[in-house]
Amino acid sequence: VWITLEGGDGSGKTTQAEMLEKWLTDAGHTVLRTREPGGSEVGQLIRDIVLHHRGDIAPRAEALLYAADRAHHVATVVRPALERGEIVLQDRYLDSSVAYQGAGRVLDATEVRELSLWATEGALPDLTLLLDLDPATARTRLDSADKPFDRLESEKAEFHTRVRESFLALAAAEPVRFLVLDAAASAEEIAEAIRLRVARLV
Ligand code: C5P
Ligand code: MG
Repeated sequence: VWITLEGGDGSGKTTQAEMLEKWLTDAGHTVLRTREPGGSEVGQLIRDIVLHHRGDIAPRAEALLYAADRAHHVATVVRPALERGEIVLQDRYLDSSVAYQGAGRVLDATEVRELSLWATEGALPDLTLLLDLDPATARTRLDSADKPFDRLESEKAEFHTRVRESFLALAAAEPVRFLVLDAAASAEEIAEAIRLRVARLV
């Protein structure tokens, strides 16, 4: 079973991944927690490039770097874990590319999605948890948090608004794969809604 978490920066993906991992592990499941960009050794190098040069990489080059990270990650980390029968819990996947490289950088959403699907031989998760939050609230949360350098957000508000709208459009287009959660709710309320949905899969 493969579950991805999506949403803007500061929407609480990491908190929910931690809570869900604990719940699944306590129930006796083997869970692999991973993320993009940077879920493999090679991917970590790509993560350093895309995050440290954010804003000065040509948009298509950035999209290709994310796709390269994804191709290697799926081939060497995700697929092997799924084949071992583990539950893969992943922070960000191709929907992030459609939202950030597509809507954010204004590349064609369909092309960005096709690029990712080519990179991964069409791999799609069983469930995608979208933590939906308005960018202003997310901004406030991030500003009050202790965040490492690569979380520093330099994009304008309109960028994040486009990203949010793109995520919501993706969820509307694939209602079976997506569960949309109001990320303004308490962490425990969100975790409970997630557990209800995940219980049907595991
Ligand atoms: O989720 P995480 O904090 O690891 O993401 C690091 C940064 O990379 C975030 O600021 C996110 O907005 C950005 N990102 C991106 N395109 C992606 C994935 C992440 O711009 N496909
Ligand atoms: Mg995070």
